[in-house]
Parts: sequence; C-alpha cells; structure tokens
Amino acid sequence: MWTNLIPFPNTSTGSQRNELCRLVASFLMLELSTPVKYVKRIGERIGEHLATRGIHTVEDLLYHLPFRYEDRLNPQPISALTPGTMASIIGEVRGSVLLRTRSGPMFEMTLGQGVSSVKCIWFHGTYLKDKFKAGQMVAVYGKLEASRTFKAAESSGSLPPSLSKFKIIQPQFEILPAANDPDTEFAMLEMGRIVPVYESLGGTTPWGSKLTSKWMRRVVWTILQDLKDSPERAAIETLPNSFLGRLGFPSRLAALRAVHFPEAGTPMVELMSASTPAHRRLIFEELFYLELGLSLKRRKMRERAGTAFMTGPAVREALKRVLPFHPTGAQKRVLGEIVADMRKPQPMRRLLQGDVGSGKTIVAMQAALVAIENGYQVALMAPTEILATQHYLSARKLLADAVSSATGQPYRVTLLTGSLDPATKRQTQGRIMRGEVQLVIGTHALQEEKADFANLGLVIVDEQHRFGVQQRFRLMRKPGADGNITDPDVLAMTATPIPRTLALTLYGDLEVSVIDEMPPGRTPIVTRRTTEERAGDVWEFVRKQVTQGRQAYLVYPVIEGGRDDHPELDFAHDPEEESESAGQRASKSARGKTRRPVEKPKLRSATDMYEELRHGALTGLRLGLLHGRLSADEKDVTMARFKRGEIDVLVSTTVIEVGVDVANASVMVIDHAERFGLAQLHQLRGRVGRGAAKSYCILMTGERVTEEADARLNAMVATQNGFELAELDLQQRGPGEFFGTRQTGMPEFRVANLLRDRAVLELAKEEAERFSAAPDPALSRAEIDGVWDRRKHQWQRRYGLVEA
Ligand code: ADP
Ligand code: MG
Repeated sequence: MWTNLIPFPNTSTGSQRNELCRLVASFLMLELSTPVKYVKRIGERIGEHLATRGIHTVEDLLYHLPFRYEDRLNPQPISALTPGTMASIIGEVRGSVLLRTRSGPMFEMTLGQGVSSVKCIWFHGTYLKDKFKAGQMVAVYGKLEASRTFKAAESSGSLPPSLSKFKIIQPQFEILPAANDPDTEFAMLEMGRIVPVYESLGGTTPWGSKLTSKWMRRVVWTILQDLKDSPERAAIETLPNSFLGRLGFPSRLAALRAVHFPEAGTPMVELMSASTPAHRRLIFEELFYLELGLSLKRRKMRERAGTAFMTGPAVREALKRVLPFHPTGAQKRVLGEIVADMRKPQPMRRLLQGDVGSGKTIVAMQAALVAIENGYQVALMAPTEILATQHYLSARKLLADAVSSATGQPYRVTLLTGSLDPATKRQTQGRIMRGEVQLVIGTHALQEEKADFANLGLVIVDEQHRFGVQQRFRLMRKPGADGNITDPDVLAMTATPIPRTLALTLYGDLEVSVIDEMPPGRTPIVTRRTTEERAGDVWEFVRKQVTQGRQAYLVYPVIEGGRDDHPELDFAHDPEEESESAGQRASKSARGKTRRPVEKPKLRSATDMYEELRHGALTGLRLGLLHGRLSADEKDVTMARFKRGEIDVLVSTTVIEVGVDVANASVMVIDHAERFGLAQLHQLRGRVGRGAAKSYCILMTGERVTEEADARLNAMVATQNGFELAELDLQQRGPGEFFGTRQTGMPEFRVANLLRDRAVLELAKEEAERFSAAPDPALSRAEIDGVWDRRKHQWQRRYGLVEA
C-alpha cells in the first residue's frame, strides 16, 4: 500500500530515491506493514539488502529477535568467572598490541576490572590495530579459557600482578559509549540494562560491519517508540484478549518490547532459553496459527468423500487366511486403528510408524486386502526399485495360495517400475486401467508413468518421508464412474521414528499409529565400534559367521573412486568441517585470497573393497556387489541370490538401507561409519537381527572422527531404540535437515524452535484444536473471524501452503 501512496518516478536515481525515503521517514507514522526502507537509518539500499534476508516490513524486522542477551546492569566480576564457560564481561581497556607470530598477525587487548584482567586475542586481528583506546569501556563475550602463562607463573610462585588469569579467543565485542558521546540518546540502550544481541543481518557481506547489534538496537528502539503512539496499536494484537488472560501472555506489542528490551530483573536464564512470558507469547502465536491450519486441514479432510469399506466375516476370513504368523499386540492394535478409519466414509490419512523390523509390511498387506475384498484396487509405492521389487516378491509369496473371498479367484498382483521395457509397461498400465489387477506395487513411477486406476481405493506409501510432503497425495483424487470425486484412503508408513515435535508439525494433518513392539524371538543386536586398523579382526569375524552358515553385509559410503563426490545417498552433515571451512573462507576472503581446496581423505568404496576383499581377506567366500549404478536387473539378480543364500557377503552402498529383508544375515559391517547420519546407521543396522540368530553391527571408522560423529556412534552402541536415536539426530541436525532432504515441506519458523519449544507447541496444538472445535463463548464474532483471517494470511505468506 505504501508504494501506491508514494509515486516514485521511474527515472529517479538511487540517491534521489534514498533522499525521498529519508523525507518520507521523517513524517511517516510507522505501521507494522510499512516497508522497512521508510524506517529511520534504513533507506533504499539497506532496504534492498534486508529484502534478501526476507525482511520487507517493519513487522519482519521486529521478528528478528535477539539470539542472546548481556546483563550490563549487573555485570559479572572477573573474579567470579569459571574457565570453560561463555562469559560476558565489561571492563576498561588497559592496553593493546599487534604481535607477529608464525601463523600470522595476532592482536591482543587487555581488559581490566580493578586488579583483575582478561586477555582478549584475535588472530589475523590487524584490522583492530587502532580500534581501542586505553580507558575505553568495552563489553566482550566469548569462551573463557584459563591462561597458560598465568598457571605457569602461579606454580613457579612468581606471579606478576598485571598477568591475566583468563583469556578469550576471538570474542565478540562492543565499545561502550562514553559520557561525552554525541549519541548519548542511545547510550542507555547499550549500558545499565539487559542488552539484546542480534545475529547480524549483514552476514558475511560488506553490510556485516554496518548492520551490527548496535544498529539493530537503535532501529528497533525507534520503531517501538513510534508504534507506541501509533493509532494502529490495537490492530497489532493477533490473539483474542481472552486467550491472553487465560494463558497469562502479554499483548503482542508488550511482548515485542520485552523481548527486544527486557525489563531490569528479568531472569537471564529465562531470556537465554526464550522462556519469558514475552517469548512464549510470540512463539505460541506462531505455532498456534500453524496448528490451527493443520487442524482445519484435518477437519476439511473429514468432509471429503471417501470409501466406506466393509469388514464382514468374509473379509476377516480372507485376512486370517494370509497371516503367516501370530501378529503382535501392537500389530493388532494398529490394524484395528487403520481398519476403523477405512470403514468410515471419509478418506483415511494415517501415518504408520514402526521401527525397522517391527512388522509394518504385514499390517499394510492386511489393509490392502480389506480394500481388495471390497472390490477396490490398491497401490503400494516404495522409494526404490529394490524395495518395490521386494514388496512385490513378498506380496506374491504371501498371497500365492490364497483365494479371494470376493472373487473366488487368486489375487492379482503386479509390479510397475520405471525400468520396465516400454511394451511391458504399456501392457501393465492397460491392465491397471481395466481393473484387471488388484494390487499394484511400484516406485514413483506409479505417479510419473501416469498409472490410471479403474477404481483405486487405497494408496500405501512406504518410507513416506522420502517422497516429500507435496508428492504425498498426488496419486489420489479422481472422479469415479458416477462423476463424483472420491479420495482413496492413504496409509503412509515410515521406519524413521519421528520425534513428537515434528510429528505435530510436519505431519500434523495425519493421524498417527505406532507399532511399539518387536515380533517375538528377536535377540538384541550387538553393536561395536572399531577402527580401520583392526579391519583384520573384522574380516576374521565375518569369515567365522559365514562358516556357521550366516551371511553378512559390508556397507561403504561411496560406490567407487574413493572420494565422496559420488555419494550414494545423503551424507551425514558434518558441521565441524563446515564451520571450519566457513571460518577459513571468511578469514581468507577478508584478506583477498581464495581458498585452497582442502585435500579430502581417501575413502574406501564398495567397488574397490569388493575387488580387494574377494582376492584378499575374504577369498573363498562368495561375495556380491550391489550399488545404485547397476541396472535394475543386475540389482534384482544379486538381491535374489543373496536372499537364496548363494552369496555369503554382500558388499554394498546405502541402497540396501531401507526394507531389505534377509533373515539369515547376521552381520552388518559399516565402514567409514563416521560418514553416515544416525537415521541411516539405524536403518542399516535394522537389516540384521531379523532372524533368531544372534546378530552383530560393527561400526568401523576411518582416520578422522568429528565430535558429532563420535556422539552418533556412541549413541548407536548405547541404544537400539529408534525414537531415542531420532531425538539425538534432531538435536544434531535440526528439523530442516532431519530427513536428509530439503523438500520435505518443513515450515520455517520466525521465532519458534522445535528443539526448544516443545511445551509451547503442545499448548498451541491443544488451543488450536479447542478453537476450531468450538470457539470460546467469550469471544465475539469479530474476534473469531479475525483469528481465521490471520490463519489464512499466515499460511499463505509464511508457509506458502495452499488450501487443502
Ligand atoms: P518393517 O517394519 O521394517 O517393514 P517387516 O514388515 O519387514 O518390518 O518385518 C520384519 C520381519 O519380521 C519380516 O521378516 C516379517 O516376516 C517378520 N514379522 C513381522 N511380524 C511378525 C510377527 N508378528 N511374528 C513373527 N515374525 C514377524
Ligand atoms: Mg518395511
């Protein structure tokens, strides 16, 4: 609206426009929707830069919250500090010096408080040479370390009084305003209060040195000052008053103010953990509107037309006939939940979670039979051809001698994957279209090859997180013979245990069933770590197991070539390596040099090791090789031979990660285990321990194991519980990376953090559910409409999610 209000001649130059911005800023009353360029100290050019960071309006800027706070009202005395902790210190500059060292220039500044002092050190700190003047007050923040020189002097008994007890390497710092500072108007933002610290909106760009915390404080302070007098003030609120009262939350404006400039006395612990009432209110607001949208989606789904399947005695009989074993209690329970959904006239949207090997497949097959016995077709989608083929083979086996109660005929199952030859594919498509097959198993090809079903009743999506959310239900809607659109039921399955916070958000529009019990007779898998130096022992062990009639998997991170430029699937995130190189990049580019590519250590690969072991440590055993670059036929043949026991040791990449089921395999050796993510390690381990024999998972590491990788491997040794591992994985990688793919449709939050805000999330879900079921009678019609409007607005703008 502002751009319409103020006509800019297209011919005006940047500086003219900037002038105009400044002019406008001087008489403008700010509103949340005002473009940031009209804010004092911002203007056209910074405005353009902020837009690249997703900040367009005053509101966007206000939601750039401090990521930490410094208590400059009650600063800590140096004498009270402990090494190893993050410390925020205010002191007086005692002196500084630029030293030449072998690794480059090093800048040292001594910060004092009475008789105590701390040495601040910056490597490559030439740029700081003239920065500090003796006597200046400076606030620094960083990790406190004990000074080695101090310790040495202390133990030798010759302690010079000027020596610092602590040092801080590369601290963040801020020179505090002096009494005669021209900017005294803002001095109170920097001192004598709890001071907010912001992540720079300039990042590593040249803007970085301008858009500092100091700058943010001034800009935000000015905005908040302005808004206080704004006539729009009432409209700033986004939650009904009765909510605020009931939940004990401040108003939105008060919350924004308190988060940016906390009152003296606000507990630092609460500030740092974003759990002040003000923080919680902002987080709640964001999550409430997300959950409200999800709740609406669920509600709308319930209004859509689906198929009400019958489960009479004939159907039950059919299910019983194919069961090869007694289902576990958990399997019975989830099947009950699924069938209850299928009987309803609304389409089912259910996620079936169960750890690797918990027996999801038979549950899915039973659900399929319910649909088939009702005269409908079923599609089962798997993420890889190997898995699709395997489902196909086990479905064929399961249904081989069974006769359908409905038709009196054997069940008709078919496989449709991308690698079928065109003629077969066309033929198969024709049979699907004419309704001649009842169960169609395939990969994405089921979608891509435009399989047209005669009457699709149920879609089963295996390892659903690999498909991405958007793709999830594309198979579905289609007018029936009578022209009415009905949705097939959808059962999504995943063996990646999804931590509850993610289940509540990413999958919030699905109902969830969990298989939390393993089939009987499983012995726990023994998991051990070892290093490449002990590889000889590992091969000896594999040989012994094979002699006892068992089989083994050896998994490598790459197919061939020994460098990780051909990873099979997603790699574990290695933040240490990344931050190291990011740091290097920053410091190198600051000096105008380009970065030399870091020589990557050589990796052992599946292809190389297959050759090496075949002729070396494992000669005499029957080895097979499996990876993603083989043709579908080659893969099938190798898998089938392994399954029949004609191959003892399968040398592979992560293609075997999901679903592969060979009960006689009892050893899983993962080489370069440090390179795999937790979810992958867990999936890989789940390939063994499927029979009664004692199984082993050996995690072999290469030369360099980062701290994070070390934690992953120790967790693997410590627990076999998928949910525990998933929580750790989420901690390590964050929600966006959790599924190893960016296209999962994870919403990006402004203030909420799923790792931290689980309690608020639960609250938001509860309140959203309550609101959409029956709004509080205390609310006026206008308030209710307001909430729904904001829900719509937030979903469109923030999540880019279209209406269901
Ligand atoms: P996942 O949940 O990983 O897909 P599967 O469905 O592949 O697990 O089951 C793993 C193995 O356990 C299969 O060999 C399957 O036949 C077997 N199994 C599943 N349920 C039972 C049960 N109730 N009793 C005995 N074996 C079972
Ligand atoms: Mg499975």
